[in-house]
Amino acid sequence: MIKKEFKAESKRLLDLMINSIYTHKEIFLRELISNSSDAIDKMYYRALTDENITFNKDDYYIMITADRDNRTLSVLDTGIGMTKEELEENLGVIAKSGSFAFKKENELKDGFDIIGQFGVGFYSAFMVAESVTVVTKALGSDQAYKWESEGAEGYTVEPVEKESVGTEIILKIKENTEDEFYDEFLEEYRLGSIIKKYSDFIRYPIKMEVTKR
Ligand code: ADP
Ligand code: MG
Repeated sequence: MIKKEFKAESKRLLDLMINSIYTHKEIFLRELISNSSDAIDKMYYRALTDENITFNKDDYYIMITADRDNRTLSVLDTGIGMTKEELEENLGVIAKSGSFAFKKENELKDGFDIIGQFGVGFYSAFMVAESVTVVTKALGSDQAYKWESEGAEGYTVEPVEKESVGTEIILKIKENTEDEFYDEFLEEYRLGSIIKKYSDFIRYPIKMEVTKR
């Protein structure tokens, strides 16, 4: 499969994320949940204006699943999803509304809490994940797509099966190293407290499932 390259700016941000020494890596979850919430908002407003979509409040939720054996953490939403074009456009470039783009290189090095304050969007997943997979099906589309990346090298996009509209982001959580500990992002209690800390205001239900060992 052909690997596509990230745009130069994105590559720089990605490199920063992958090699991040930032202490509060947990904020990646805030970013993913906020994206899911945005996507559900879009679905919600579409449903309000399109009588062909029947809006059922219970259908809209965010589901976090941790699989400790496979070291995967997934964030699934029943939002509006992305087309193939949107996948490439949105995830192939630097966070558009994220404040990251406005920060100069030296500011990034010194005041690294920019990440904590403003967020850096989707790419923050690479602080904790060795690879990221996005499976998504857009509203009104028959075909679903899978976007996959192991970081700055690039990404691939291919058609896949997915029944329902929405998006699932699957992170392959990094292995622990001598000074960095990642197992916590697969633990129910820890995940629960991160969600409580950063995503308490999200107006859709956040469900959680953790496989026990
Ligand atoms: P921002 O949220 O500031 O736009 P992000 O890097 O967090 O930047 O996300 C980039 C874009 O990717 C979003 O604007 C959105 O279009 C798309 N996106 C990310 N996650 C999802 C999702 N779960 N469902 C639909 N679109 C998404
Ligand atoms: Mg975002």
